[in-house]
Amino acid sequence: MTEIPKSHPRYASLVARERVAEGVRKGLTSIQGLIAQGRGECFDYLLGERTTPSAAAATQAAAAMLLLAERPAFSVNGNVAALVPEEMVKLACALAAPLEVNLFHRSEERVKRIADLLRSCGAERVIGENPDATIEGLDHARALATRGGIYDADVVLIPLEDGDRCEALAAMGKKVIAIDLNPLSRTARRANVSIVDNILRAAPNLTAQVRQLSSLQRSDLEGIVRDYDNENVLHRAVQEIKGHLEGQFKD
Ligand code: ATP
Repeated sequence: MTEIPKSHPRYASLVARERVAEGVRKGLTSIQGLIAQGRGECFDYLLGERTTPSAAAATQAAAAMLLLAERPAFSVNGNVAALVPEEMVKLACALAAPLEVNLFHRSEERVKRIADLLRSCGAERVIGENPDATIEGLDHARALATRGGIYDADVVLIPLEDGDRCEALAAMGKKVIAIDLNPLSRTARRANVSIVDNILRAAPNLTAQVRQLSSLQRSDLEGIVRDYDNENVLHRAVQEIKGHLEGQFKD
């Protein structure tokens, strides 16, 4: 990987870019993943590369929803595998949930590489190599899913997912939690909880919230989920971008 000096003002962003490029070189991430990364970087720049208050509220609601879930499942694609494999494993372990490799541009080789990477990071349950079900409303390769994972989950976490799959999962009656830096994406607008934050920050924050809320009573968790309003959170995210941009030209 290219060496990035720690003193660089945009160190974290450049390291992330390198990780995704390395993901492509190692055969974990598709070439299209570079474009998704670029779009994410752009929105992160507009947000000020920070976890905003609305993202923190969404993260808390997501943690409560996951703690209430009977069968949570987490989707992992090539960008997620390149950026936060260890963090996804920690999150999955905290909730005893399976990690399902779920690729838009599926190749069996890439699925295996990602599954092996997650196992090497200590994952207890990695699935997706042998899909045995299809999600209605999607074309064949993108519809593949696994029983005991995303297919029968009641709550699914879909970081960096495309809008069609998000819609199809919601149409199956699942509660959908998205991590997506674009508050205007179809995914963010269709999910029940949209964490508008970089997965580099969102994944460890979510694990920390799960640990923090795990001692709460079920009724308190239900209260957090009930009081959460995703449309309002997306509106606040847009206002946070606007506020950040206006702040750039104050002087
Ligand atoms: P949609 O179909 O939902 O409108 P899209 O066509 O933009 O979305 P993709 O190109 O599949 O969907 O999107 C990837 C999404 O992931 C983009 O919205 C991008 O902002 C987001 N993204 C990329 N990198 C990150 C990251 N590191 N953390 C969080 N989100 C990211």
